[in-house]
Order: sequence, then structure tokens, then C-alpha cells
Amino acid sequence: MRPPICAICDKDFYDEGGMVQFALTEKDKENLKRFEEPGFVGHPPGLEWFCEEHIKEAKSLSHLTLPEAYKIMTQKKPE
Ligand SMILES: [Zn+2]
Repeated sequence: MRPPICAICDKDFYDEGGMVQFALTEKDKENLKRFEEPGFVGHPPGLEWFCEEHIKEAKSLSHLTLPEAYKIMTQKKPE
């Protein structure tokens, strides 16, 4: 499990944000099988951290896969 750092703005946070579970890609579904093996530790597929500023939008896009949602969220913020 990664520490809480927003996937969009790289801001680290403590209480304000949270995790969003996105739809799984085919690759994620394969990776998920490894989590069922005893002793396997890693970051769950499709699960990502977002700060307070981004978690609302992230939740509204959670029916998409993480790469799709990430693309939409980052395109809105040209920097
Ligand atoms: Zn953020």
C-alpha cells in the first residue's frame, strides 16, 4: 500500500482525502489474482489516493478504469 499522496496533484495529505476504487482493466484483473495468494503484499489494482480537492471528481469517474479517469482529470488542468 502506498502512502496517501494525491494521484493528480502529488499533494500528500492526512485526513482530507481518501481512496477511490476504479473499474479494473484486464491487466488489473490479472494482478488481482495475485492478491489471493497467501503472503502477497502490494498496492491493490484500480485503487488510488486523492486529496480533498480531487476526490469528489475521482469518485464521479470511478465507473471508468484508472487510466481513463486519470486522463480526464489531468486534461482539465493544463499547467
Ligand atoms: Zn489532488
